[in-house]
Amino acid sequence: MNILDEFDTIAAIATPIGAGGVGVIRISGEKAFEIIEKIFTSPKFEPRKFNHGWIVDNGVKIDEVIVLPFFAPNSYTGENVVEIQCHGGVNVVKNILELVLKNGARLAERGEFTKRAFLNKKMDLSQAESVADIIHSKTSNFAKVSMKNLSGVLKGRINEIRNDIFEVLSRITAGIDFPDDVKEPEYEYLETSFESIISKIDKVLLGAKTSNIFRQGANVAIIGKPNVGKSSLFNALLNLDRAIVTDIAGTTRDVLRETLDLGIPVTLIDTAGIREDEDVSKVERIGIEYSKQSLDEADLILFVYDASKGLDNEDKEVLDLIKDKNYILIANKSDLAENGNSEALQISALNGTGVNELKELLKKRVCDIEPESLDFVTNSRQQLCLTKARDALEQAHLAAKLNELQDLISIDVKSAILALDELTGELITDDVLDNIFSHFCIGK
Ligand code: GDP
Repeated sequence: MNILDEFDTIAAIATPIGAGGVGVIRISGEKAFEIIEKIFTSPKFEPRKFNHGWIVDNGVKIDEVIVLPFFAPNSYTGENVVEIQCHGGVNVVKNILELVLKNGARLAERGEFTKRAFLNKKMDLSQAESVADIIHSKTSNFAKVSMKNLSGVLKGRINEIRNDIFEVLSRITAGIDFPDDVKEPEYEYLETSFESIISKIDKVLLGAKTSNIFRQGANVAIIGKPNVGKSSLFNALLNLDRAIVTDIAGTTRDVLRETLDLGIPVTLIDTAGIREDEDVSKVERIGIEYSKQSLDEADLILFVYDASKGLDNEDKEVLDLIKDKNYILIANKSDLAENGNSEALQISALNGTGVNELKELLKKRVCDIEPESLDFVTNSRQQLCLTKARDALEQAHLAAKLNELQDLISIDVKSAILALDELTGELITDDVLDNIFSHFCIGK
């Protein structure tokens, strides 16, 4: 996109395409009001007042609508914005959009409304990114925490850290520029300042693993010998009947996947039984191969054995395969067992005993922070910027410890600031921006 295109008038359908109660077409840019005046029957706009009327094309009524005008800079994008609320049919919405385009707007690119909001300083980059997170969140918890980012929680943390670094940099610079009037800061002060700033960055990065799990979800594979009750457990966790359950060994031949919302999105993978014996049919063997693959992609493994039979040698062989991985030992069919193995979680997939305890344990094992306690989330781009800032401060800290020239130390301190400016979008290249907004949908 060239820079001139960035400020022409854009339009898009803001609601999902499909039959619905209401559809919204959004227009943003200098010509937003001029366009609507040509196609709307009652264009007497006042700020914060909605307008009722008809969209017309050369006198032909297209739809009865509500028009909401937003006057720059008090709009989502910071420009003049008009939102047309029409009936939510696919063709009505498309007809109105076409009419808007015919009258001087161009179709918006992905994320272009939010990009304009960012370029017009209505929000920083962390807030703009949270808009996409809110729209694409897989769980209600992630939507809630992304909303905290939108309200500026992460932005506030980053600004606080940046101010701390800037304070140190100002003192170093004053000492260098005005050596007769200002004493350069003590090295001890520099060391303790860098330590405290690094620990603040670490606190922000602490939630990174959880943020990633929140965003991508965790893969949890159920494994064990045939007939121990893996499919029954899969169904019990999901409250459904998807996996076929029989008492003939080897009935789950392919790998089933379903998403379970435990506050964090968990993809539950039911694997074919792992079995190495000779007469396993070909189809089942393929299933077994798949289950070995799912072991590799699993963040957590639920290893199931039959509590009524106890852990036998075959179970132990499978356990040996996963001994270095993150797993939970599950004794299923505990309803048939007398005394359970105390190390294993006692479950009955058949009557539901222990299933809720397993869900709680599972949640703790894939994510060590309570999802509700997160104040903000970070994405991998933001984590990279924070790590860059941290590395630069580590260098500065080392240099301060060695009493290096403060001129040299200031170079690392400036790099730390630049890394944070990249995070908030204060300093960002067009390529990075285009990449970020290309992940949005059109109309946002
Ligand atoms: P998979 O081959 O490991 O997936 O095992 P299935 O889920 O197909 O179960 C095999 C048999 O064990 C079926 O007849 C189930 O009804 C039975 N089963 C599964 N879980 C339990 C349980 O907790 N208690 C009892 N008594 N039977 C169970």
